[in-house]
Amino acid sequence: MNYELVCGLETHVELSTKTKIFCSCSTKFGGEPNTHCCPICIGLPGTLPKLNKAVVEYAVMAGLATNCKISPVSKMDRKNYVYPDLSKAYQISQYDMPLCRNGWVELSSGRRIRLNRIHIEEDAGKLVHDRGNTFVDYNRGGVPLIEIVTEPDLRSIAEVQEYVEKLQMILRYIGVSDCKMQEGSLRCDVNVSVRPAGQEPFGTRAEIKNMNSFAHMAKAIEYEYDRQVDLLMSGEKVVQETRRYDESSGCTEGMRGKEDADDYRYFREPDLVTILVSDEMRETIQKRMPEDPQKRIQRFLSEYQLPEADARLLIEHRRIADYFEAAAKGTKNPRTAANCILGQIFARLGTEAEKEQFNVTVSPENLHALILLLDTGKIRMNLVKSTLEKMLDSGKPASDFLSEKDLAGISADDLKAICEKAISDNERAAADYRAGKEKALKAILGSVMKATRGRANPQETEKLLADIIRR
Ligand code: ADP
Ligand code: MG
Ligand code: ZN
Repeated sequence: MNYELVCGLETHVELSTKTKIFCSCSTKFGGEPNTHCCPICIGLPGTLPKLNKAVVEYAVMAGLATNCKISPVSKMDRKNYVYPDLSKAYQISQYDMPLCRNGWVELSSGRRIRLNRIHIEEDAGKLVHDRGNTFVDYNRGGVPLIEIVTEPDLRSIAEVQEYVEKLQMILRYIGVSDCKMQEGSLRCDVNVSVRPAGQEPFGTRAEIKNMNSFAHMAKAIEYEYDRQVDLLMSGEKVVQETRRYDESSGCTEGMRGKEDADDYRYFREPDLVTILVSDEMRETIQKRMPEDPQKRIQRFLSEYQLPEADARLLIEHRRIADYFEAAAKGTKNPRTAANCILGQIFARLGTEAEKEQFNVTVSPENLHALILLLDTGKIRMNLVKSTLEKMLDSGKPASDFLSEKDLAGISADDLKAICEKAISDNERAAADYRAGKEKALKAILGSVMKATRGRANPQETEKLLADIIRR
């Protein structure tokens, strides 16, 4: 029998607000253990939390960017559990009144993955295991999180991966998180079940906790799919449980079943007030949001005639997309602007982080000016490249490297002389051309372009060369 994979994701994303959710400690990743802490975020008795307004704004932005309804009224709740990474023995989260509901993320197939909710909560500290000891680092405790919960709409590993990538792109783009899986600022709990193809009701699910890489996620889902199908084929049942993925073996293993599932004894957080998001506040946030990245890709295709792959690369980070638009807007050669960025500029940015920061010595205005020189025929394509290299080396504008002569083009007499010399330097090619080999002219054209440093117009030059040879 054929079994269909069914997945639903709970994705935790750390928000990149400057300070934590209930105190003014830094949210910076890393740092000496327990240095980004205060009595509030380590939960000393007598302290009171105060909700960071920016957290609500960021979460509303995330909700709007994923087509959610924003709740005008929501609240925080206590989720009680005892574990050393949680100094208060409860996590402040949202239970039955999340900030955002009923959104969706669209995949390239056009399928919409429905979001059940997005809620805000605080991150826990981190346990560091070292030679038989366990240490606690509370730097991460109190860092704001959003948890984004899908409906069980995902049907393949490829869809799971695409969904997470889309989510990353959207959230990075609106600037609410850097979504770095390797630093744990985006982590997924993956719920997996299988059902016989064609069957309506869902099978029983297992939840695999805390996945922090695409590769592990793919392996874990594959393992879990096989495990559940094997159980059903041999007449057994899948039990609802929480499982852990073991990186070294590539297997998932049971952590706790439904019976010993935690009872979180949720209740309203009495130390925090109700969260109100007025229409006005929502609209103000909406106005501040950048253009939807999906729509921006479509606009790059129609407005600048970019190939889709190029548009996607430019859109990946908002700084790059903004830079491109500033350079390309109002020029006749937007594709050249894109090529300059994706080719020569990217070549100087080694890491993904460098791309994201996009600290480039050439300002978008200077690249724009260079493209305009091309537009107006003052320089040719190969001169664009070499000039851009010099600009990148020095940070200076194109005008610093192009002499009057470069920009003036080349006089008819000079061009004729250069052509004549090129022909006598390339006797054999000229003879071939006379004998009817049209292609032979290209070799001569090449040496003219070299001699003029690309300033000659290739079509005109080719005609001129043919005239001289036939004479
Ligand atoms: P809980 O609150 O116990 O974690 P939820 O009903 O909120 O349970 O579901 C959590 C996640 O599990 C959601 O992302 C949901 O889409 C997913 N899910 C629920 N049922 C299934 C199922 N049968 N197969 C796969 N995923 C499921
Ligand atoms: Mg869950
Ligand atoms: Zn603090």
